[in-house]
Amino acid sequence: MLSRPDILTPADGAAVAVENSAASGPVVLVCEHASLALPERAGDLGLPAEALESHIAWDPGALAVSRLLSQTLDAVLIHQRFSRLIYDCNRPPESPAAMPEKSEIYDIPGNRDLGAAERYARTAALYVPFHDSISATLVAREAAGLSSVLVTVHSFTPVYFGKPRAVEIGILHDSDSRLADGMLEAAEGGPFRVERNAPYGPDDGVTHSLRLHALPHGHLNVMIEVRNDLIADNIGQGVVADYLAVLIQNAITACQK
Ligand SMILES: [Zn+2]
Repeated sequence: MLSRPDILTPADGAAVAVENSAASGPVVLVCEHASLALPERAGDLGLPAEALESHIAWDPGALAVSRLLSQTLDAVLIHQRFSRLIYDCNRPPESPAAMPEKSEIYDIPGNRDLGAAERYARTAALYVPFHDSISATLVAREAAGLSSVLVTVHSFTPVYFGKPRAVEIGILHDSDSRLADGMLEAAEGGPFRVERNAPYGPDDGVTHSLRLHALPHGHLNVMIEVRNDLIADNIGQGVVADYLAVLIQNAITACQK
């Protein structure tokens, strides 16, 4: 278990990466679960290798799809460089899921009984800079006269607690469904099984980033969940990114009418 405030060392690098920061397209892409990397000092959190590489550590394929979307949409992309096992940046610090003691079938020994100092240190090292970076990006764009559409990109496991999931792409929203409605309409009759607020929804606490950065400011927003078997390789990532880019563009156009 970590027990020091300096969770990230210079060798680890920054918590946050911002790519294509000068992009002029309307979309701001966010990928909270982009990475399975753990800070050097975190060790393995007491987990076996299979868990450290599984969906409990990250959203496989989500960063690759985000990068393709960033190119196609000329969009800035902000992603977390460390695993959600150490801090899940789509959860507020007070949520038990921010530093989970258990994820699906795995107990996470390195997250058991964390004290206030450790929780604070992880929050300060990983969560705060990540969300500060998103805020700063949105504020700078506004100052430059650019409106922003917040799109967060995730992937989910095809089998959860032993149960297969049929949904292929989830379009998730909180109280502002404008963009999600437009994407769902654009998806009708298309090649993928696309569902609203699936396999999770706002009641599961997954819309934290939307609630933090989009809802208070009136930015169009959506959270996208892609079943990770569809984006396991370059070909799948390209197909899904192209598909999502069209849905996003059509939905933005529909919202502007
Ligand atoms: Zn995710």
